[in-house]
Amino acid sequence: MAITFDLSGKTAVITGSNSGIGLGIARELAMAGADVVLNSFTDRDEDHALAEEIANVAGVKARYIKADMSKGAECRKLIEEAGACDILVNNAGIQHVAPIDEFPEEKWDAIIAINLSSAFHTTAAALPLMRKAGWGRVVNIASAHGLTASPYKSAYIAAKHGIVGLTKTTALETAEEPITANAICPGYVLTPLVEAQIPDQMKAHDMDRDTVVREVMLARQPSKEFATVEQMGGTCAFLCSDAAAQITGTTISVDGGWTAL
Ligand code: NAD
Repeated sequence: MAITFDLSGKTAVITGSNSGIGLGIARELAMAGADVVLNSFTDRDEDHALAEEIANVAGVKARYIKADMSKGAECRKLIEEAGACDILVNNAGIQHVAPIDEFPEEKWDAIIAINLSSAFHTTAAALPLMRKAGWGRVVNIASAHGLTASPYKSAYIAAKHGIVGLTKTTALETAEEPITANAICPGYVLTPLVEAQIPDQMKAHDMDRDTVVREVMLARQPSKEFATVEQMGGTCAFLCSDAAAQITGTTISVDGGWTAL
């Protein structure tokens, strides 16, 4: 049988997808033919407009559902409202940087809830739908920080290591079914969030853009290039394809060599 990257007839739910990597993944999966459900915690006209734009460009069904991924009940309701979930991409995430002894408790709780527990709730709600459909893909967006650590990012690193563990358990519990679970571990990806940090870093280090990107921001990324949201989307589409049907319970690094160091 020929290997196909055609995802038509599948429905993908991507958490945290009104910007950055989640939006890039939604666009790529839609271009591969999947119907997509976008999500974030806001309910603005521009959120719904993104879904409309994807539907028009890709010729698929696309909608936006508001749900706060810091709340377990809303995570489960997102999947229920989506109605179908052949592909689940757990992408919503936030960051806070501080030493452990100064790390605000509420930031720890929010990061663990949004970056880790949300994936437990959505996966629990999605697996019965995947089993009913007889096919499923869980793609968790971890990080190079799911495999290595850096100082001052305790909650983020704990959550990202946790999601790698959840990915492995999901894969083992579905191993004999046509369902896979994998994690993508990006290095630095040029999203609006990262782009916005460049002017401050230029000022703080008194460097031009190219130097600050190379020497400061990409200090640990040997390629000295940001990864792109399109590359995240392409990697996700590959994991959803027939070519990846026997890839389960593992991580794929898209980090310009960071974890090879
Ligand atoms: P981003 O800020 O552009 O996207 C985060 C998304 O999560 C947004 O859509 C935001 O609205 C959503 N979100 C935040 N809180 C939410 C909540 N309570 N409920 C629902 N949605 C919520 O950032 P990004 O860089 O695109 O990050 C996306 C994912 O990729 C995160 O899990 C992040 O940890 C991971 N990641 C990013 C990088 C990078 O360099 N950008 C590297 C490694 C991993």
